[in-house]
Amino acid sequence: MAKLTDPITILKGVGPTKAKQFNQLNIRTLEDLICHFPRGYEDRTRIVTIEKLQPDEPACFKAMVMSAPRTSHIRKGLDVTKVQVADYTARLTLTFFNQKFTTDKLQYGKEYIFYGTVSGDFIGYNMTSPVFEELDSEPILTRRVLPIYPLTAGLSNASVLKAVRQALAICDPPAEVLPASVRSAFGILPAERAYYAIHEPASMEEAALAKKRLIFEEFFVFSAGLALMRAARSGKAVIPYKNLDLSAFYSALPFTLTGAQSRAIDEIAKDFGSGKPMNRLVQGDVGSGKTMVAAAAAYLAVKNNQQAALMAPTEILAEQHYQSLNKLLTPLGVRTCLLTGSLTPKQKKDTRQAIADGQVDLIIGTHALVSDSTQFQNLGLVVADEQHRFGVGQRAALLGKGKDPHVLVMSATPIPRTLALLMYGDLEVSILDELPPGRQQTDTFLVDESYRARINAFIRKQVAENHQCFVVCPAVEENGDLDLKAATVWAETLQQTVFPDLRVALLHGQMKGSEKEAVMGAFARQEADVLVATTVIEVGVDVPNATLMVIEDADRFGLSQLHQLRGRVGRGDAKSFCILTSRTKNAQTLARMKALCKTTDGFEIAEEDLKLRGPGDFFGSRQSGLPVFRAASLSCDLQTLKQAQQASAQWIETEGSGVTPEAEAMRRRIGELFLRAQDTVN
Ligand code: ADP
Ligand code: MG
Repeated sequence: MAKLTDPITILKGVGPTKAKQFNQLNIRTLEDLICHFPRGYEDRTRIVTIEKLQPDEPACFKAMVMSAPRTSHIRKGLDVTKVQVADYTARLTLTFFNQKFTTDKLQYGKEYIFYGTVSGDFIGYNMTSPVFEELDSEPILTRRVLPIYPLTAGLSNASVLKAVRQALAICDPPAEVLPASVRSAFGILPAERAYYAIHEPASMEEAALAKKRLIFEEFFVFSAGLALMRAARSGKAVIPYKNLDLSAFYSALPFTLTGAQSRAIDEIAKDFGSGKPMNRLVQGDVGSGKTMVAAAAAYLAVKNNQQAALMAPTEILAEQHYQSLNKLLTPLGVRTCLLTGSLTPKQKKDTRQAIADGQVDLIIGTHALVSDSTQFQNLGLVVADEQHRFGVGQRAALLGKGKDPHVLVMSATPIPRTLALLMYGDLEVSILDELPPGRQQTDTFLVDESYRARINAFIRKQVAENHQCFVVCPAVEENGDLDLKAATVWAETLQQTVFPDLRVALLHGQMKGSEKEAVMGAFARQEADVLVATTVIEVGVDVPNATLMVIEDADRFGLSQLHQLRGRVGRGDAKSFCILTSRTKNAQTLARMKALCKTTDGFEIAEEDLKLRGPGDFFGSRQSGLPVFRAASLSCDLQTLKQAQQASAQWIETEGSGVTPEAEAMRRRIGELFLRAQDTVN
């Protein structure tokens, strides 16, 4: 028997080349392979007679080869092979293109099982490139439910299939972790059966059951993990903050806080006074003023003689936070510093020294701050801005540092409630559901190409009024297959032919970090009028002078993503606009985008997005900050999610800390899932 941790190279047919291809899919061990789940299935179980074959309904049929395969060489690179087959009901001509090697295997007078789709009418049915197997062969491509695997260049579905089959034959699948009580309560397959059936289902129904079981398990493990993390944190004691007076902070603010901001700050102050480490998420739409909430928290930590760290996902954002917080907090006696990758080695060293010596109180930087090389003298609070880049993995890593700082994460990604429960199961949540007063709504329009001249004129008008514009494209470069606006080409076109007299800048994800910072910085300093960009500008950038966001081929983006992009404008006093362009004729897609024109409520949009695309999209995306889910990312329903969550909560209460082999296996599985989360974020 082999072990799950054995490398895939022990399989027959998996040499160095195949192994490399599998590595592309993050498959290295037998376990990885067994956990490489099909993204769908093809039901090839139906067997009919030739007479019963219907156009567009692929099926298996048994037939005899009535003529030796005849190959004609049509032209260079095109060989066509024709074969006559028949059963007792009818005859059929099979046509193959460039498959001489395959068709040579068909022997005159012998019966085979074929699988394919007929086309044509009753006068002359034809079938193109069916697959076939000998009658007494093992069903691999016919007479079965065929799993369809996510693939990579060079790796065929059949080779994944064969490798998985071998792996399942020589080693046991991952151990059962779900308690028997849970399995029976939710009618869930045992692990062994599920791992087998997901790859070799006897029917589509069984495939569905297997998938449900594996998704359930993943959610169960994940929510149990969050619950354990939460329990571990709340079991810790820290010194309660004595000084919770914010009056000096409030009087230093240039504005009055919104009710939502005050509530969030009160909740944080209460956490600080509780003697337990805080784990709080501040969730608020773009522009709801999360930075001030973070500032209040940092102020309190410092007034209680601790250091605070504020981590931003990008250097630009770190810089911006530094500018505004330094101005606000220095007069209040808070010593701030900026720690980013663009400092010289000497500056970095000095800054780190000052942090270690306790000469600075509030350290602002990128997520690299949490790296091991930064030693804090007395870190009491960690604030992570834009938490979807600061996922569960990093949260777990922080805890692993052996300190118990208060943790505050801030997110502008409106996650539907149902998913929020799952993603933030280890956090308390404060919601900023109120925008600062005087904020004007960003008017949003959906237009087609006939509006191009008007869009250009509108950009000109904004620039003439001393404002700036973003133009977002769905692709970086031109790509033969997809007729998408490419940022590089579009920037060139705008600069050369449309706005030769304006300053057009370009920003995309394939640029080096320092280049991106430079372009963004220049735009923020108003050294460019129009910034053509990809979605790299999605997160956090604050250029209040920008009043127009044009999104090209907007149908290529998810609703929540469009909403995030739109949030880059409407941040100042001036009226702002968002123009979605689209060339699609699809009524549903258009309706979806029109919904975005009507509402600016991020949560409403997120719910709509969830309905349209399903939670799989959230779980599959690396940006979500979640561990990479294997089963759940394929597609999953909220029902399963809720059940798993409910079951895991119950399990934690009753058996979670037990010493049964199952409880131990579960805790091991949780560790693995969270480790995988750390590997994959960033
Ligand atoms: P978020 O991070 O939630 O997207 P920010 O913290 O960047 O939002 O705040 C957006 C803008 O609103 C900033 O320019 C900030 O100074 C301003 N702001 C924050 N709170 C208030 C308030 N209560 N009244 C007026 N302006 C505010
Ligand atoms: Mg922010």
